[in-house]
Amino acid sequence: ATPTAIMVATGKGATQGILIKGGQALEAAHKVKTVVFDKTGTLTIGKPIVVHTKLLTNIPLHVFYDTIAAAEVNSEHPLGKAIVAYSRKISGEHSSHGQQQHEVRDFEAIPGQGVRAVVDGKATLVGNMRLMKEHGIHISEEAEEHLRDVETLARTGVMVAIERELVGVVSIADPVKPEAARVISILKSMGVRSMMVTGDNWGTAVAIARELGIERPCVHAESLPEDKARIVEEMQAAGTSVAMVGDGINDSPALVAADVGMAIGAGTDIAIEAADIVLMKSNLEDVITGIDLSRKSFFRIW
Ligand code: ADP
Ligand code: MG
Repeated sequence: ATPTAIMVATGKGATQGILIKGGQALEAAHKVKTVVFDKTGTLTIGKPIVVHTKLLTNIPLHVFYDTIAAAEVNSEHPLGKAIVAYSRKISGEHSSHGQQQHEVRDFEAIPGQGVRAVVDGKATLVGNMRLMKEHGIHISEEAEEHLRDVETLARTGVMVAIERELVGVVSIADPVKPEAARVISILKSMGVRSMMVTGDNWGTAVAIARELGIERPCVHAESLPEDKARIVEEMQAAGTSVAMVGDGINDSPALVAADVGMAIGAGTDIAIEAADIVLMKSNLEDVITGIDLSRKSFFRIW
């Protein structure tokens, strides 16, 4: 593309809330054959809410939520925030004094797994299957079956162990963005394949992908940040030009690795920093507009 075409496209992008950081990103975007989407906060709204609780012992519901909210109170993870918010809501409904104070020691957030803390002297784990397995927690058949059901509904099952006993599963829903399925289908008609990578579990990932029309072989789940970058690099090594769309710290290595990194404007500063293009309106339709701007300037439509 000519310098003038790049200027025109960058200007047009800016008026639509698409910040293109340089001519190189614009140049690269017209060659993109695959778009890799992060799930949480990118394809989904990213404001998860607790929708169901299954208790596996006779622990009272308010004790269950008091304990896990205390464990998650210092968590910056959206799932942790959802648990704290829900716990505040139910304790507000059950007593006039709100939540009790709990003594929390040894809090630790374990990326891609969950949190660990000692609440009122009790070892508490809140997180996924990997967290439970790594701590040698026994998972009953009843719990496994429940988890499968939760995941089939495209929800995330957060498991809770207190003093090494699995006491319950919290189901958390994070709906897909209203435009997501449409964007994926338009990309397909443009000859661009969509993939999804997520740190969330396989069951939930596959259910969300099905909702969006992303084919099963195009899904990668239980991925750590370095896995996301490696997936991008493997496709590039096979000769595919790749765009990565993400919102989180855990997406930044992949945003850097991609030919075109696109950050969701409502995402974290680290993702925005790592990206070549920022979608200020946080609307996935702007992925198409970005590729379109590039194609037009390259093929001199204007
Ligand atoms: P994503 O790529 O979807 O943003 P993360 O890598 O942040 O996912 O987290 C992966 C998984 O780890 C979550 O789906 C959840 O099962 C578990 N997890 C992470 N942090 C927490 C937390 N604070 N509380 C409960 N579960 C968590
Ligand atoms: Mg995300």
